Amino acid sequence: MTDVEKRPDRSPVPADWTYAPAPESTEIVSLRERYGLFVGGEWVAPRTGEFFETISPRDEAPLAQVAQAGEQDVAAATEAAREAFGAWSALPGSERAKYLFRIARVLAERSREFAVLESLNGGKPIKESRDVDLPLAAAHFFYYAGWADKLEYAFPNRRPKPLGVAGQIIPWNFPLLMLSWKIAPALAAGNTVVLKPAETTPLTALLFCDVLRQAELPPGVVNIVTGDGRAGAALVEADVEKVAFTGSTEVGKAIQRQLAGSGKKLTLELGGKAANIVFDDAAVDQAVEGIVNGIYFNQGHVCCAGSRLFVQESIYEPIVEKLKRRMATLRVGDPLDKNTDVGAINSRMQLDKIEELVAAGRAEGAEVYQPPCRLPEKGYWFAPTVFTNVAQSYRIAQEEIFGPVLSVLTFRTPDEAVEKANNTPYGLSAGIWTEKGSRILWMAERLRAGVVWANTFNRFDPASPFGGYKESGFGREGGLHGLEPYLAFDD
Ligand code: NDP
Repeated sequence: MTDVEKRPDRSPVPADWTYAPAPESTEIVSLRERYGLFVGGEWVAPRTGEFFETISPRDEAPLAQVAQAGEQDVAAATEAAREAFGAWSALPGSERAKYLFRIARVLAERSREFAVLESLNGGKPIKESRDVDLPLAAAHFFYYAGWADKLEYAFPNRRPKPLGVAGQIIPWNFPLLMLSWKIAPALAAGNTVVLKPAETTPLTALLFCDVLRQAELPPGVVNIVTGDGRAGAALVEADVEKVAFTGSTEVGKAIQRQLAGSGKKLTLELGGKAANIVFDDAAVDQAVEGIVNGIYFNQGHVCCAGSRLFVQESIYEPIVEKLKRRMATLRVGDPLDKNTDVGAINSRMQLDKIEELVAAGRAEGAEVYQPPCRLPEKGYWFAPTVFTNVAQSYRIAQEEIFGPVLSVLTFRTPDEAVEKANNTPYGLSAGIWTEKGSRILWMAERLRAGVVWANTFNRFDPASPFGGYKESGFGREGGLHGLEPYLAFDD
């Protein structure tokens, strides 16, 4: 017997394995009471005179007052962008790159501050904003900085030229990351920008204005106008050469109708209802992690979320059993706690939508499972949920829920998996779990999805294009493909 084993005074084994709270301090963030619009490098009051309150979804506490931009404000922002365009587009690419590198570095340096604010305003767990949103946001600026002086090589013999002013509208699920996806390629290509963040999550975009000043970006190159959908609609109508939109399919369709015949360039990144397909030869434990990451990451507020799980019939039972066991270990609660896996739902409106669709799933006859978890009393919360016994026709299998809700369906053969996976108006992403490389390629060729992950899910890289088919939109963001929509060509 070793000495260690003989020791009589063993420390007592803890009776309870719950985690002690590990709250991230909010002291690093200092908010103003009230924010104006960022136009021409200055903070200006909205001509509407209107402000609205932005809150934290974790406890509904007010955070700041934010300006509601009207048509005149949006026009002033596009004028500022137009004025800045001449000098900005005339800079050598290597000079534009320096600004982008600076922005990337400042974002990396201030990443803790941004991560805390992102979680505070949006409700996502701090470990996700810290380890996913912020590093990726900085990486986008680093990546596109690298292309700014190489556009001629990126598009050989095509003489790429910037378009002019880009109007960009982003959603609330990845506020700073979507801002980076939009602004970095636009600036690298030599355009100037007016961006509208989502109504519920404007604060990191407003803090980003501080980064622009720190990086000494010339005034007017980036302008930020806040407000609700009316400000977005005004931006679409405004004097811009290009509109880039990420959000719901419904609003995307309205924008496409609005712009038809206008000559403005348009890219749309819309909703999704991704299939995550698990074959019976997959590594089951990894697949279960991938399923969990695919749907419960960011409370399922992810356009490419793996919200439809297709399991090969022969392994249906073990997968569902393991999944439920894994779900029971997810910690739901304060987004600013470093142990939290599932944070707050972004808004009351979104919570209502999730509740409505979950009620529809129950009414249609699906079987529901939610692990026992105590949800905080204040704020907006929804427990991780899985539906089994789901038919293809149910609303929960057809509509984008945009919440932590998974529908499980089954298949027998690869052909059947493809047919069921493609049976949706969307086509943004898909996942395949199998040990056979040939099957991955066979499936990927047939799945009508812009991104297909194999033996992983929700992986992003600035060098890799992202975008949809069908009602998930058109145009790509990321990689070389993401530069193209911001350029005009001679050919
Ligand atoms: P929206 O499409 O309404 O919002 C996306 C952005 O567009 C926001 O900045 C929004 O402003 C703005 N906007 C709203 N109306 C207009 C308009 N008429 N013209 C121009 N811009 C407009 O999405 P919601 O936030 O309402 O979410 C609704 C549903 O959309 C979700 O439940 C989810 O299913 C889906 N969704 C999908 C996303 C994706 O990435 N694919 C992202 C977000 C939502 P404001 O915030 O002020 O309304």
